[in-house]
Amino acid sequence: MTMAPELQVLSPADPEPVLLSGALRTIIALFVIIPPLAVVAAIPIAWGGFVGWTDIALVLGFWALTALGITIGFHRFFTHGSFKAPRAIKILLALAGSMALEGPITQWVADHRKHHKFSDDIGDPHSPWRFGTSKRAIAKGLYFAHMGWFFDEPQSSIETYAPDIAGDKDLNRIGRMFPLLVIVSMILPAVLGGLITWSWMGVLTGFFWGTLVRIALVHHVTWSINSICHVFGTRPFTSRDQSSNVGWLAIPSFGESWHNLHHVDPTAARHGVLKGQIDISAFLIRRLETIGLVTDVRWPKPLRLASKLKDPAMAHRIRGYAAAVAAAKVVPVPAPVA
Ligand SMILES: [Zn+2]
Ligand SMILES: [Zn+2]
Repeated sequence: MTMAPELQVLSPADPEPVLLSGALRTIIALFVIIPPLAVVAAIPIAWGGFVGWTDIALVLGFWALTALGITIGFHRFFTHGSFKAPRAIKILLALAGSMALEGPITQWVADHRKHHKFSDDIGDPHSPWRFGTSKRAIAKGLYFAHMGWFFDEPQSSIETYAPDIAGDKDLNRIGRMFPLLVIVSMILPAVLGGLITWSWMGVLTGFFWGTLVRIALVHHVTWSINSICHVFGTRPFTSRDQSSNVGWLAIPSFGESWHNLHHVDPTAARHGVLKGQIDISAFLIRRLETIGLVTDVRWPKPLRLASKLKDPAMAHRIRGYAAAVAAAKVVPVPAPVA
């Protein structure tokens, strides 16, 4: 894929470029810089004994809550409509995703829909291919896609890309409550740490692990989907962009790193469609569907996916392929020669 080095950053769909104010950029910079410093400090701090089972529970608990708020909520539900959910679930998912500190739901959805619309082309707010294809340009692009775009990229238009989210009373309110939810997300682990251990030390270590370390983990894993999963990894499916599958990120990203499939079938509730591809978000959506908390789930269609594989013989690796072939009474593609 070749691209001009000086790409236009605006898409025709954005009427007026709106840049963030200097104050907001500074706040974002603090949220980008401080949590990773905590991760660097985490190993000697843990070594020194300043980590207890409560802290481990807090970091894992808040990581799961907020990351799933992004993967199941902001991404698969609000951006792509992979399933339907009643109002209470909608609100819970919007609150949990907001607590990941990745911006208000309205802006998150607008940015991500714009990313899919222009996917590694002019107008994509965070393509790692923005500066070209030389090694130097890709290195610059990886940083830009990971986090550089927060500072320099004009805001994606909510009016154009997320009118449904902005028009939903509950979601609009939750979007406007974002600064408050940031504070709740930062304070809650410290409060819980203090209450559980009934000590000020518990407040301190709860904040360190449950807030700072957790935020760094959630952020960098999400951002890796935009950077790493558009450059490295495998591309078993034919997509019009550079999206890729990265296996080692599957568990920390709760299934989002099967990103090549996601760009091929964006509304599917499952991204890890090949056998052995762990997708915790899809697993949980399935459980929610079983108990009736979500409905109309858009599960991927094996025959449709098979037609998008670069190597047709890989169809046998798609979950449910054999059953789909039998149900549709079609002839399966030949199995690969062992
Ligand atoms: Zn992508
Ligand atoms: Zn998506």
